[in-house]
Amino acid sequence: MVTSSTNPSLRRSALRADCDRCFALCCAAFGFAQSADFAEDKPAGSPCRHLDDRHSCTIHAVLRDRGFRGCTAFDCFGAGQAVSQRLFSGVSWRERPDTRRRMFAAFGVLRQVHEMIWYLAEAQERTYDADIRQQVCDLTETLESLSRGNVDRLRSADMDSVHASVRTLLVEVSAEVRGSYFADDGGLDLRIGPGADLAGCDLRRTRLCGADLRGAVLIGADLRECDLTAVDLLGADLRDARMAGADLSASLYLTQPQIAAARGDAHTRLPTAVSAPLHW
Ligand code: SF4
Repeated sequence: MVTSSTNPSLRRSALRADCDRCFALCCAAFGFAQSADFAEDKPAGSPCRHLDDRHSCTIHAVLRDRGFRGCTAFDCFGAGQAVSQRLFSGVSWRERPDTRRRMFAAFGVLRQVHEMIWYLAEAQERTYDADIRQQVCDLTETLESLSRGNVDRLRSADMDSVHASVRTLLVEVSAEVRGSYFADDGGLDLRIGPGADLAGCDLRRTRLCGADLRGAVLIGADLRECDLTAVDLLGADLRDARMAGADLSASLYLTQPQIAAARGDAHTRLPTAVSAPLHW
C-alpha cells in the first residue's frame, strides 16, 4: 500500500512489483493480440497457457527468445501484490474462481492509479513552483486514498477525470523543467515534439535537451550517446530504441517498462528510480 507519509523517492520505491506475493494477475487479467511483443493471441480474463498452477511462468528464462519480450518489459507498479494480498486477503483466483472477475477488474484500475502516483512523485521532486507542488501533493493524496479503497470504490472511480487532472499537472511541470533548455525543433526534415513519429530516426546529432517527446514514437530510433536531460518521455514508445551510452539520468517521466523495451548498455545512465534490465 502506498502512503502519503513517505517522501516522493520512498513513495516510488514502494511502487515496485513483488511477483512472489501476486497471483500472476498480469498473466491472466489482460488480453494480448499476437505481435512482436507477444507471440500468440491471449484473451483478457484467461490465464496465459504458459502459466503454471503456482502462478509461475514456465518459459520465464526464455521469454525473449520465444517471442514474449513484452512480458519482460511489463511493470504493474506494485498493483499486483496489493490486489492479491490486501484486497483479496491472499486468496487467489484459482482457489476462488468466483472472485476472478472482480480481482482482474480491480487490478486493471489499481495499476493505473499506482502508475499515476509514480509520475506525480517525480513531478513533486522536479517542480520549483510552490503552487504546483501543492496541487501535485493534493492529487497524490486523492490517488493514495483511492488506492486504499475497496474493490467497489476502485471500479466506480472516474478514471478519465483522474487521468485528465494528472496529465494537466505533469504537462505543467514538464514545461517548467524544460523551459530553459531551448531544445532543437529538429529542422525542416525532422519534427521534434509531442507525438512525433521518429521511428528509426538517427537523432545523434540533434540537440535534445529539454525536448518534449511526450507520446513520441521512438521505435528503433538511434539515441546512442545522446544527452536526454530534461527530455519529457511521458508515454514515449522506446521499443528497440538504441540507447547505448545515452544519458537519461535527468530525463522526465521515464518508467521501467519503457527502459526494459529499449536497447541500452552498461554505459547508459538512468534515473535512480529506474534500473537497467537484466537483458541489456
Ligand atoms: S508468457 Fe509467461 S510471463 Fe508472459 S503472460 Fe504468459 S505466463 Fe506470463
